Amino acid sequence: MLESRVIMTRTLIVDTISKVGDKVILKGWVNTRRDHGQIVFIDLRDRTGLIQVVAKPELVEDLHSEDVIYVTGTVAKRPEKLINPKLPTGTVEVQAEKVELISKSAELPFDMGSPTLNLELPTLLDHRSLTLRHPTVQTIFQVQAQLVENFRQAARAIGCLEIFPPTISASATEGGADVLPVDYFGHSAFLIQSPQLYKQMLVGVFERVFIITHVYRAEPSVTTRHLVESIQMDCEIGFVDSFSDLLDAMETVFSRTIENTQNQFDVQRSLVTNKVPRLTMREAQKIILDRTGIDHTSEPDLMPEDEREICAWARETHKSDLVTITHFPTSKRAFYSLPDPRNTEYCLSYDLLYKGLEISSGAQRIHDPDQLKRTIIDRGLDPANFAMYLQAFEYGMPPHGGFSFGLERTTMKLLDLANIREASLFPRDMERVDFRFSSHEPPQ
Ligand code: ATP
Ligand code: MG
Repeated sequence: MLESRVIMTRTLIVDTISKVGDKVILKGWVNTRRDHGQIVFIDLRDRTGLIQVVAKPELVEDLHSEDVIYVTGTVAKRPEKLINPKLPTGTVEVQAEKVELISKSAELPFDMGSPTLNLELPTLLDHRSLTLRHPTVQTIFQVQAQLVENFRQAARAIGCLEIFPPTISASATEGGADVLPVDYFGHSAFLIQSPQLYKQMLVGVFERVFIITHVYRAEPSVTTRHLVESIQMDCEIGFVDSFSDLLDAMETVFSRTIENTQNQFDVQRSLVTNKVPRLTMREAQKIILDRTGIDHTSEPDLMPEDEREICAWARETHKSDLVTITHFPTSKRAFYSLPDPRNTEYCLSYDLLYKGLEISSGAQRIHDPDQLKRTIIDRGLDPANFAMYLQAFEYGMPPHGGFSFGLERTTMKLLDLANIREASLFPRDMERVDFRFSSHEPPQ
């Protein structure tokens, strides 16, 4: 006769709140341990959150942070005065009856128990597999995943199809110097700086497309807003009737992405409105001159301090954390940007700024094949390097344009992080791939 046994299934920590009085098995990591004589408090962590486990010392012996354990116990209501309002499970605790050690953790190199992880950035990144486990750090990437999800929804809502173009390219997208070469079976190829050329080609197929992809830029300087490998979220839209259609699309997609994400997480709310203020680059420079006395009105681009100042203006005068800047000099933008027919010195380009930083760039594109080829030649580039791209224009291409958001920059600004590296799981910059090169140089 078969022995009948009740096998208890795992309860997720978030579900304990509705299981007062029940016996449960929890599985997770020891987040922190506090010893109070004949009683030990363990904050147990799983993918859904934290819960307080109460245990006798003999049950938990020398358990410490990051040990993986299974806890069998009973969910109990906490007395009123012991409720922890900071934890979603703060009204309950689990009284442990059995604790199994599944995987022992090494001693931690620093304390992970504080609500915020106060480490210097290099330490945070040198121990990334560990520091990512801290609940506050985890939240950054839960928010990031939701930003991607909400971008996807917003891009689909305007009729875009998701496409997956390659990240190895035969040509450097914009002919720039900051491109990472690949030794491709003895031929030269490059990691894409942007999916730009492919998304335009695909407008010739699907009219409206969107992409979430890794991009690579050999950024030659170390800043708080540049990574070498980053994730870009792009839309490209065919059959645009006017420049303002493109601005509407960019602002709508971004506002919805931010709005929906901040409705899903307890984050400091950004001021996103349906009416994003719009200025030409020259108008923005004039406002900056009037506000600060600093004259950048002859500069061909906004400087980082200009981006901060014009965002301060947008917040003060329009109660908006977003501002759109249009009409950058044609010579400063990529070759495929369409010069403004009214004044070809400037092109139909735009940047979206968010809380003091460029978060997105875009433009209406040249769609006439002859004009495109001429522009490539005028820029000193070789049309032969763009053969597949140019092919798409030979066979009928509608007026089109699009935009690209940086995912890490969006995450960084939404959460008010000080450095973009905090918004990348394993950030790559000129000094680091996993570890800093200086600390891992091979012996000479
Ligand atoms: P910047 O002028 O700030 O260096 P860019 O104009 O060179 O940026 P774009 O080519 O417009 O960048 O790229 C589109 C978006 O991708 C940017 O608006 C930004 O959000 C993001 N982005 C660009 N470069 C990087 C980078 N090196 N690391 C992280 N994100 C980036
Ligand atoms: Mg840009």
